[in-house]
Amino acid sequence: MACQNLVDEFGRTIKYLRMSVTDRCDLRCNYCMGEAMQFMPRRELLDLDELVQVADAFIARGVNKIRLTGGEPLVRAVTLPLIDELGTRLGTRAGEPGLDELTMTTNATNLARHATRIAAAGVKRLNVSLDTRDAEKFRALTNRDMLDRVLAGIDAALDAGIRIKLNTVALADTNREEIPELTAWAHGKGMDITFIEVMPLGDIVAERSDQFLSLETVRQDLEARYTLNASSHVSGGPARYWDVPETGGRIGFISPISHNFCASCNRVRVTAKGELFPCLGHGELTDLRAAVRGDAPQSALDVALDRAMKTKPERHHFQIAKGAQPTLARHMSVTGG
Ligand code: SAM
Ligand code: SF4
Repeated sequence: MACQNLVDEFGRTIKYLRMSVTDRCDLRCNYCMGEAMQFMPRRELLDLDELVQVADAFIARGVNKIRLTGGEPLVRAVTLPLIDELGTRLGTRAGEPGLDELTMTTNATNLARHATRIAAAGVKRLNVSLDTRDAEKFRALTNRDMLDRVLAGIDAALDAGIRIKLNTVALADTNREEIPELTAWAHGKGMDITFIEVMPLGDIVAERSDQFLSLETVRQDLEARYTLNASSHVSGGPARYWDVPETGGRIGFISPISHNFCASCNRVRVTAKGELFPCLGHGELTDLRAAVRGDAPQSALDVALDRAMKTKPERHHFQIAKGAQPTLARHMSVTGG
């Protein structure tokens, strides 16, 4: 039986779920969270069975791509069994509900230990976040001394046959000069690299207007060294891609501030405690935990998903100005990226 797809009020079909499995993290990237973060109490989080039920409810409604994210997904023990379980939803027969892709965004600090198991579950691609390869800058940016672990994690995943795309937040005060070299390094290892503009999500100690670097500037910097040819590649996410003939690699740009991409949005996000946020840039939410803990979880989840489709806003409105409050109090580590 054909499933009833999730379609919002603007005619956008939702095919892509980002599931944050924890808001906790072993790094403290200063554009993301401060040292004194308040995390969700553990008892409020969905357990393994509930996470699987939520994922299955989306899959039954036509979602065919799930990205696990956080916080740092690999700091929560439930993540590996969840990957094993969701891996069994991959590659189902045409016309049947199932996943075309299961993937994850990770900081890679714990990837070296788990890469083989993750690959065995059917994960073929990972996004790894890395903003600098300079050990001193890495420590200053993340407030932790873990660059070696990240680099080992990247190598282990590549050795396990997983393709990696690097996510790099463009930061005026940290990595602007390093971006061309980081690109060469990534492409030399067969990894694509995507640059992201810093977004005003959640209170931090640092001043985001000092960090913000427009990707228009990054593109000009890169064009001083490389040829950038517009690429026809699409990843199902918000990035626009460019091929670099000199390196044979690809560069993506995610510009939520300078280039709005909401018209083609196919995504929704669920937090570790089951809050369904239809938009990264808005506060509307639907409580899936209440649905999954009720008497008839399957039908309650279905009703909740339909309700959420009616609340997905047309677009986000981010602004970064000196001294301004964040557009949203919710940190990116709650909804994941
Ligand atoms: N911890 C994992 C990681 O860093 O890959 C997954 C979660 S993290 C929130 C996902 C992505 O969001 C990372 O690439 C990170 O750099 C990015 N990010 C976090 N806060 C951000 C912000 N305020 N603006 C733009 N990107 C942000
Ligand atoms: Fe942790 Fe990712 Fe946020 Fe960095 S960006 S603090 S790794 S959740």
